[in-house]
Amino acid sequence: MSKVHVIGGGIIGLSSAWFLRKEGFDVMVIDRTDLADGASHGNAGMIVPSHFMPLASPGVVSQGIKWMFNSRSPFFVKPRLDIDLIQWLWKFYRSCSPENVNRSVSLLKDFNELSKDLYRDFASKEGFEFCFEENGLLMLFKSDQAAEEEEKIAERGKALGLEVEILDKEQVQKKEKNLKTEVVGGVFYAGDTHLYPNLFIKETVKHLKLNGVRFKTNSEVVDFNQNNGLIKEIRYENGESELVDQVVLATGSWSAKLLKKIGFKLLLQDGKGYSVTLAEPELKPAYPTILSEEKVAMTPMGNDLRIGGTLEISNFDPKVNRNRLKGIFENVAKYFPEIEPKTFKAQTVWHGFRPCTPDGLPYVGRLPTIKNLTLATGHAMMGMSLGPATGKLVAQIIGNKKTDLNLTIMNPDRF
Ligand SMILES: Cc1cc2nc3c(=O)[nH]c(=O)nc-3n(C[C@H](O)[C@H](O)[C@H](O)COP(=O)(O)OP(=O)(O)OC[C@H]3O[C@@H](n4cnc5c(N)ncnc54)[C@H](O)[C@@H]3O)c2cc1C
Repeated sequence: MSKVHVIGGGIIGLSSAWFLRKEGFDVMVIDRTDLADGASHGNAGMIVPSHFMPLASPGVVSQGIKWMFNSRSPFFVKPRLDIDLIQWLWKFYRSCSPENVNRSVSLLKDFNELSKDLYRDFASKEGFEFCFEENGLLMLFKSDQAAEEEEKIAERGKALGLEVEILDKEQVQKKEKNLKTEVVGGVFYAGDTHLYPNLFIKETVKHLKLNGVRFKTNSEVVDFNQNNGLIKEIRYENGESELVDQVVLATGSWSAKLLKKIGFKLLLQDGKGYSVTLAEPELKPAYPTILSEEKVAMTPMGNDLRIGGTLEISNFDPKVNRNRLKGIFENVAKYFPEIEPKTFKAQTVWHGFRPCTPDGLPYVGRLPTIKNLTLATGHAMMGMSLGPATGKLVAQIIGNKKTDLNLTIMNPDRF
């Protein structure tokens, strides 16, 4: 049986391990942590065919510049003199074009739909419980400008075949039965779904172990031995090393750092975000909801409610920015006045780093220079959504099979 070492035990690594095992590979997942936390745990758990617009879209740069000067805004780039950041920003700026949107929308929609189907398969397995609910997503807005922008996206979603309802404020209130809303309108995406990420990760690890996947946790990979365009060995922080056949690199935001070791430059930045999870709150929205202008996500997960937001390109700064966090809570109250900011007092704040590419598309594919390394990262705000489909693609790549999606525009060597 061919061996595959999957480095990284977040949603992308675990999904890769799942589908590789299904194809009969001998799989080991390596992670430097004990898999109890990470970007794939505290995220908002939204599975979103509605998010077919790439992060790099027209208008994002000018909005981002305005946000940079507001300490409570949802976006920030921590200034630093770093050639990798400068190159990333330049490529991001260049990617915020109608051409980038046009080439990305169908792929992102199909990618999300494929993952949604795969989540459905997971949910149908006996003893695989992760609060998977297929009841749509509500996008809310308070300004006419946001209404105009979101309605344009909604029309594009309809053209792509999504089930979309554009709602006025009364229709929003009729749909949102649990809470009083203060908005000008909304868009309802009936085909979106959601889940409890922490449960999904826990269940996946449990089932992978039952299916014979081996785990090497608390083990950081720090380097590789390569020869003739192949990785021969991976090296660990404690000085040990291990021979390998095939390697999947799914180390999220940390992937660029590891790839540097084998001379491959990957443009990738960490997009820090926060979330808090209220256990069994009295008040919670009926649907997963996005507060459009503020980029805040609110997801009912089982009996709990998770609220998340902000994207700070921070160079892995673990500090919680209290001002920005305050901004999230104040913004919730602007849309749902019954959920007052004091509700969030004394809640534990989680943070995670989203792996962000300059054009808003992930990197999925073999490296051109290292034939036995498959890269799967860069899913930014959609790693949970695109996880299972990415895992399936990785197994198809390593098994030399035809892939379900066209990988050309996700080529790791495209910048
Ligand atoms: C606030 C917030 C809300 C979000 N909401 C959503 C959402 O609603 N829907 C959605 O689809 N996505 C969402 N996301 C994005 C999603 O969480 C990420 O895209 C996804 O978790 C990335 O998964 P990953 O497996 O690539 O990386 P990670 O989960 O970061 O996993 C990488 C793993 O690699 C390990 N690792 C790193 N370096 C090494 C090394 N050298 N050796 C060994 N192991 C290593 C790490 O320990 C880690 O476990 C959200 C993110 C945030 C921050």
